[in-house]
Amino acid sequence: MHLLTDAQRSASELAGLIGAPEREIEEHLAHVVRSLAKDSTRRFLLDPSRCHDCGFVFRERTRLTTPGRCPACRSEAIAPPRFRIETRSKKN
Ligand SMILES: [Zn+2]
Repeated sequence: MHLLTDAQRSASELAGLIGAPEREIEEHLAHVVRSLAKDSTRRFLLDPSRCHDCGFVFRERTRLTTPGRCPACRSEAIAPPRFRIETRSKKN
């Protein structure tokens, strides 16, 4: 979880950093999302996947995996979603 705190990373970057398969990272991220839902000091942010060819953004997509194909132009050049945990700084 600390790898995502105030640093934006994709599942494949996390897989490289941790040395675990991407599938495992996605399962772990799903768990992180659930546990942060009740956390008032931290927030999970998802930067959605987008199409490299036409710029289509997968805003409606809540899954953590990379979509296979762009619905707008059918390109398979899709940038993976990126994740970040934002900490809400307590002032005073
Ligand atoms: Zn596209």
